[in-house]
Amino acid sequence: MGTPGRASPTPGETPAPAGPRSSAGAGLRDPLRGIIGGRSAGSLHKAFGFETVRDLVTHYPRRYASRGELSPLAALTEGEAVTVVAEVQGVRERPMRARRGTILDVRLSDGRGSLALTFFNQPWRANELRPGVRGMFAGKVSLYRGQLQLAHPDYELFDEAEGQPSETEARRWATTPIPVYAATAAIASWRIQRAVGVVLDALGELDDPVPEEIRRRHGMPGYREALEMVHRPTSDAQWRRAREALRRIEALVLQTALLERRSESEASSSVARSAAKGGLREKFDARLPYALTADQSAVGAEIEADLARPHPMSRLLQGDVGSGKTLVAVRAMLVAAESGGQCALVVPTEVLAGQHLRSIVRLLGPDLAALLEPTLVTGALSARERRTALVRIASGRARIVIGTHALFGDAVVFDDLALVVIDEQHRFGVEQRDVLRTKGRRAPHTLVMTATPIPRTIAMTVFGDLDVSTLRTMPPGRRPVQTIAVPLAEHPRWEERIWARSAEEVAAGRQVFLVCPAIDAEPAPGGRPDDDVPDDPDHGAPPPGRATLQAGIPLLPEGEEAPGVPRSSVEQVAATARSRAELAGARIGVLHGRLPAEEKNSVMEAFAAGTIDVLVSTTVIEVGVDVPNASLMVIFDADRFGLSQLHQLRGRVGRGGAAGLCLLVTRALAETPGRLRVDAVAANADGFELARIDLELRREGDVLGADQSGRRSSLRLLRVTRDGDLIAEARADAARLLAAPGGLAAHPALGAALQDRLDDIERDFLARN
Ligand code: ADP
Ligand code: MG
Repeated sequence: MGTPGRASPTPGETPAPAGPRSSAGAGLRDPLRGIIGGRSAGSLHKAFGFETVRDLVTHYPRRYASRGELSPLAALTEGEAVTVVAEVQGVRERPMRARRGTILDVRLSDGRGSLALTFFNQPWRANELRPGVRGMFAGKVSLYRGQLQLAHPDYELFDEAEGQPSETEARRWATTPIPVYAATAAIASWRIQRAVGVVLDALGELDDPVPEEIRRRHGMPGYREALEMVHRPTSDAQWRRAREALRRIEALVLQTALLERRSESEASSSVARSAAKGGLREKFDARLPYALTADQSAVGAEIEADLARPHPMSRLLQGDVGSGKTLVAVRAMLVAAESGGQCALVVPTEVLAGQHLRSIVRLLGPDLAALLEPTLVTGALSARERRTALVRIASGRARIVIGTHALFGDAVVFDDLALVVIDEQHRFGVEQRDVLRTKGRRAPHTLVMTATPIPRTIAMTVFGDLDVSTLRTMPPGRRPVQTIAVPLAEHPRWEERIWARSAEEVAAGRQVFLVCPAIDAEPAPGGRPDDDVPDDPDHGAPPPGRATLQAGIPLLPEGEEAPGVPRSSVEQVAATARSRAELAGARIGVLHGRLPAEEKNSVMEAFAAGTIDVLVSTTVIEVGVDVPNASLMVIFDADRFGLSQLHQLRGRVGRGGAAGLCLLVTRALAETPGRLRVDAVAANADGFELARIDLELRREGDVLGADQSGRRSSLRLLRVTRDGDLIAEARADAARLLAAPGGLAAHPALGAALQDRLDDIERDFLARN
């Protein structure tokens, strides 16, 4: 682990290829600055972090608008997107009534009808929109004071000298798709479009990452042509074809990378670790208060067989919430630690790191704990604690190290890292895992664990570099959590029952989670960046709205209930809980990501110790938190959460003797996507089944985790949920290509694309940590 070295797909084998280079003109790796000028490059860098030509040309349009059909002015209707050919009759500038600024009114006529154009604060347009000038005007027809108008239309004026365009030319202009880019307040879509245009003009020939044979077989255009068609299509068919080609390229690069890594891992060596007779793992098993489930022992045997080989293990362990993955991990760590090796357990949150430390110390018992010195590394340690921890790790004394991302900092140096366990893999995303794994100096064995089971077909295509183990059986004595939807839209009175039920649990000596989607009260989200447009032109999915990032998990789109309804917040729910007569005397605690680390820990410890009865929190408690006495979970605005997130959350209750109950409170209306998720979770106890439903409901989501990784990702267009076939084809292509003489070395442009992908991932990782 240690230093974040430069990631390379095949260290020492393929020399870093020169990459797609232009024969003349700009290349993909050239800086933008020299091509589009410092100012535009600066804005693009600020808005998106773009630096190179490649960054910009792979910022694909989110959708395409069309100017609309050519319409006679007499036949316009409100709400229609139209293009009209007409002549300017008159122009008038007037001050705005309520605010400072001016309005420019333009009157158009086509001889049969008339139409008004309106521009706010753009008086200079009067210079070109002079009476008598003819042109084409496009926009959405609106009705203002009984009159049809176009506000801020897109237009193109006819050159008087050239005369009026033919009907065909006008039609072509009207039907050319207009790319619409993900834009920010600082940089508008049309400015991006212009910059892309300049860059495309400057771009030279590009070496194609896809070998010609594969391209021909799938009828793909060349890379250069695909970029041209995705950004400057002259028809809808063009951008559709381009997007498919670009998706295939992404799929091929991804699959080649996965297969390369797999064979690299097969070829690379690592220290074999075996369980000794009468060794640590046997001692541990002997003092376990319960028997392993059948699956726990079977998976344990698979892992031990992997560890005993002199090649690094790459195994994915999937098991539903509560299936006992931690125990499997601890047993693997004991085998790895047997011969003095060290183990790193990486978890997504500080809360979970602290909790894992406590429960692992408890599981190990005093003797083993003293021997293995479990050590915590999070960003929340004081300088002194951190130094102590680092020394213990570097000296090799700490044989079990538990931490968050902080574990991958430069300063953390292991003496002999044998095994890396990544818990709650779904929180990291596949690309982050890439980075984590490239940090290893000595090819440690790797076990990644996830509670979000992935359907087999996807596991094979996406996580194709991992072997998969599954825990299907649950530890005995666990009863499924009874889950009830509480739709307040239909039954507002049921709100009372929430509080009554909470009070009953507390009175019975048990504990309650109240989970909210937000920390403090906030106004309902306002307008969306891009109103009422599908994000994905291929599939007409609903707009993503503003996906809220909380602890790295994108919540599903907001805005599925009446506008103006604020989200339930920890602040507000805690206040309500404290004011409820039923809960008088109950000890109420609050937990969320913005609290200082010590406070988070002390609240969590108090709840675990039972000195807090009711914990009001955000999803920081989502993963792994284990408090057996907690029997009731109320999730407010449950429709705001993702399906597997709800399933994870409810897995926090019913872990002890008492049956668990989960109330999914929602104000969303029936049949909205949020309600469908809530109803699905209420109707299904099985995480595997829910994962399947999740895939069906999620049109936007991306199992690859590319969406979670934020601003930069090498996967722009590929969606595992719907591109399964295409991914499978790419996998076959990649396998054939790698097996052919010369392997990847015979395809330098593909090698370069692989390198670019790793650079992207690394850059993103470094930017965020
Ligand atoms: P997850 O797979 O969600 O991480 P955990 O590892 O947190 O699940 O285990 C859930 C609970 O089940 C814990 O309280 C753990 O102690 C308990 N447990 C694990 N294995 C067994 C077993 N074989 N028998 C009984 N209880 C078990
Ligand atoms: Mg767990």
